[in-house]
Amino acid sequence: MLRVENLHKTYRLRETGADLRAVDGISFEVERGGILGIVGESGCGKSTTARLLVRLEEPTSGRIELDGRDITAARGSQLEQVHRTVQLVFQDPYASLNPRLRVGSALAEVLRVHGRTARGQPTRARVAELLEMVGLAGEFARRYPHELSGGQRQRVGIARALAVEPEVLVLDEPLSALDVSVQAGIVNLLGRLRAELGLTYVFISHDLGMVRHLSDRIAVMYLGRIVEQGPWRAVSDAPLHPYTQALQAAVPVADPEREQTQELDAVPGELPDPANPPAGCRFHTRCPLAEPGCRTLDPALERLAPAHDVACHVVSRERGGVAATPGSGG
Ligand code: SF4
Ligand code: MG
Repeated sequence: MLRVENLHKTYRLRETGADLRAVDGISFEVERGGILGIVGESGCGKSTTARLLVRLEEPTSGRIELDGRDITAARGSQLEQVHRTVQLVFQDPYASLNPRLRVGSALAEVLRVHGRTARGQPTRARVAELLEMVGLAGEFARRYPHELSGGQRQRVGIARALAVEPEVLVLDEPLSALDVSVQAGIVNLLGRLRAELGLTYVFISHDLGMVRHLSDRIAVMYLGRIVEQGPWRAVSDAPLHPYTQALQAAVPVADPEREQTQELDAVPGELPDPANPPAGCRFHTRCPLAEPGCRTLDPALERLAPAHDVACHVVSRERGGVAATPGSGG
């Protein structure tokens, strides 16, 4: 459904004139009806990836295919078609909801703009149907955004995306602004909608624990690159890359003694300046396994287990990857 090949997005920073390679050569595929989870700390390029996938931004280089069509440089009516097929759901739908528009008017506006009104069904009925799909009563159509709870707002944000009748939803941290008690309801809703509507998801989060519930594959990003990707269970339960292992260690274990909503223990060490990433392996400044060679040699993403790719010299050597021992004939 979605195929990304060697995708790059570089920004020229105004203050310093330096190039920020926000997305620096990533590749992945998502099957129709599948869910790819993308996980990493803020500043790793997740949100840029999201904006590229929905073509709110144009890649610097590389290729994006949607259902076999090249949409990398789509413009005009082709771009409108992309926006009807792929929709973005934001972390904080409040920021993207017009505070002066009632929920019903906001949804009606989307239906009108995307030409999803004409099918003999009155707009009001379609609005009520969309609200029902996301578990909200029809009377919510008359409410203003400030009259909604965080969870209700996110439901409206999802309804607005669904109004376009997309095939793919790109969800950028859709749960991060919500209380833990509300998150489960949204997770269930997303699962149900995917089954009912046959949607394909790209689910983006800084929290590996969150992504694992909603993904069939997981890609882990660090400073613009994918450092590990594979089946969700392998990546979340038995990660191979030292960075994913650190993310896994940062996932809080349910502990009745402690508040569940506590801040996560972050990955140890500071995230380097994304505009000036370390040479060699970008993770070497924080990696407990780093060797001298890691400071100069940039590890390539290699298939080291079934459908499971990792970019790490040490893991590659341990698992007999092809690039591990040059000249050994293996
Ligand atoms: Fe750590 Fe080296 Fe592997 Fe990078 S290549 S993750 S620094 S061991
Ligand atoms: Mg972000």
